[in-house]
Amino acid sequence: MQKIVDFIKQSFKTQEFIPLHEPRFIGNEKKYLNDCIDSTFVSSVGKYVDTFEKEFAKIVGSKFAIATVNGTAALHISLILANVKKDDEVITQPLTFIATCNAISYIGANPVFVDVDLDTMGLSPKSLKNFLESNCEVVDNKCINKTTNRQIKVCVPMHTFGHPCKIDEIKDICDNWNISLVEDAAESLGSYYKDKHTGTFGKVGAFSFNGNKIITSGGGGVIVTDDVELAKRAKHITTTAKIPHPYEYVHSEIAYNYRLPNLNAALLVAQLEQLNKFLDSKRELANIYKDFFETTNMKFISEAKNSKSNYWLQAVLLGDLKQRDDFLDFTNKNGVMTRPIWRLMNELEMFKDCQKDDLKNAKYLEQRVVNIPSSVRV
Ligand SMILES: *Cc1c(COP(=O)(O)O)cnc(C)c1O
Repeated sequence: MQKIVDFIKQSFKTQEFIPLHEPRFIGNEKKYLNDCIDSTFVSSVGKYVDTFEKEFAKIVGSKFAIATVNGTAALHISLILANVKKDDEVITQPLTFIATCNAISYIGANPVFVDVDLDTMGLSPKSLKNFLESNCEVVDNKCINKTTNRQIKVCVPMHTFGHPCKIDEIKDICDNWNISLVEDAAESLGSYYKDKHTGTFGKVGAFSFNGNKIITSGGGGVIVTDDVELAKRAKHITTTAKIPHPYEYVHSEIAYNYRLPNLNAALLVAQLEQLNKFLDSKRELANIYKDFFETTNMKFISEAKNSKSNYWLQAVLLGDLKQRDDFLDFTNKNGVMTRPIWRLMNELEMFKDCQKDDLKNAKYLEQRVVNIPSSVRV
């Protein structure tokens, strides 16, 4: 294990503490921030929000992008756009960051947990199909869960650490079962499945620009869609549903203050300019890790078939729980930050009674996957 710590320190050219993921501000960040402050438009309107939305849509290849205050808000609104209501059900994976399930819960809907694939760590099309065939039926164009008698409105797969899941197969299954697809693409800016950008396969997709993501606006998020009506609605309900008027306050419904301040958007426009450089650096690090871990008893997790990963958080697979815990303990004591993958959502108090399938692969990965330092190297 000392060999691994030495190798990581050498790869980052430092003997100091190495965090898991640090942001990098090496472009026009200060320039745009200063410009934004000088303009006095630091808050809810401003040209950086507009520029960002246009640029982002272009990069991922969707028609529209709507900036939000964070990724959780983007997910929350995405689910509302997909017509999720109180007491509906939403299928997702148990191996995800809590935000996915929080967003479902904000609406009063219920998560249903379906297993992941071992190669992608994302929702398994095979398990999804099995779950639907054993538990559900389509009645009047609605997917009804026979166990609970509730409607399954949406499926939310997540692209774990930037590795795309088998999203085209998932989309086909959802179409067959009258379920809308909403992608939690929070971690996967710059990741493609069969040459199509993640987040653009379903009705809506959500991304995050939290401080630990591949690019950051401090806090921020975005919703993408090709549907003009959904795009308009997203803008409307993330901006307090205010009806445009030169001076009067008139609002058409109870809505949200989820817009991204111009200040954050200024940072984001500068970060977007760096995206290709960041992606190259992460891929290079992934190649270095891959070669190195072949000389150890751990397995580096590479992108799966048909996909191009952004390698946002690099990950290794360990032999068992004991080996994992020893590795976490040793590396963190020796100045190299590492972290286990998330505790499964169905093991948390709030979601322990949610319906689930056997979650065999999710449990396997939960005990073995560890993230290792992944910052862009400058
Ligand atoms: C980061 C993240 C989010 C939410 O992002 P915030 O911007 O922190 O609200 C949602 N889902 C996943 C999988 C994430 O990793």
